Amino acid sequence: MPDERAPAALTPEVADARCDPGLPPAGPHTGRPHPVAALVDRIGDLFVPLGFDVVDLPLLESARDNFDVLGYPQDHPTRTRLSFFPAPGLVLRTHATSGGPRAMRAAAPGPLRTLLVGTCFRNELSSPYSGSQFTQIDGLVVQPGAGLPDLMGLFDRLVYGLFGPGHPWRVRRGDYPFASPGFAVDVACPRCAPGCDECEGRGRIEIGAGGLLRDEVLTAGGYDPREVVGLSFGCSVERLLRLTHGLTDIRELLVNDVRLLEQFDHAGPPAGPPQKGTDRP
Ligand SMILES: [Zn+2]
Repeated sequence: MPDERAPAALTPEVADARCDPGLPPAGPHTGRPHPVAALVDRIGDLFVPLGFDVVDLPLLESARDNFDVLGYPQDHPTRTRLSFFPAPGLVLRTHATSGGPRAMRAAAPGPLRTLLVGTCFRNELSSPYSGSQFTQIDGLVVQPGAGLPDLMGLFDRLVYGLFGPGHPWRVRRGDYPFASPGFAVDVACPRCAPGCDECEGRGRIEIGAGGLLRDEVLTAGGYDPREVVGLSFGCSVERLLRLTHGLTDIRELLVNDVRLLEQFDHAGPPAGPPQKGTDRP
């Protein structure tokens, strides 16, 4: 009895054909970094020359490092409404800042410059603009004599490195439990047009945040806040990709459709060596 699963024999016409247009293009398909990984590398390239190392964080953090050490009270909304606790005392990271206490404990009392990279999770609905799962990069500097000008230099390097030298940006006061003062970082909306839904007509859009670490955070990390200053700055990678590459829905980055990913081949960020802040902090 013939095997119905066997392929049908080729007709002489098809067997003699010199090509089959129904086949995929010939040639090897080479892999490439996922756009999120590529942008993480790009941001790393901006800060490694300043002495930063790059650390991949584990998915789980202790609730102590994710919240307590960073000054999040028990009733903070991020803690009570947006977090996943898979086991007592453990939380799926809500921000990459959670790696800061561990990095400080390992480095104290010496200086620290590190980029903490990790997937973060929030118990909230995803949208084209933000996801319940996203990648965050958090930069951390602890050393004597650092200050706000150094923090602004780091923002400078981040914005100019991603959006091009001279791209307008500004800070405004932001409220973050681990920082005082804290700042949100806005850039001129790179996708602006009449009726822009990206910035809702404001002409600027938030891309990150940062600030000076509170004394309590430095103390918990093993430092004497009378001797060192801590700088923290962070951004969400998918959000930056949306702005720098014109994505309409950042959730597409989780689908991994190769037709989307291949479009990033020739669409690297408008990189260029930052023109300012190259030797700070
Ligand atoms: Zn706009």
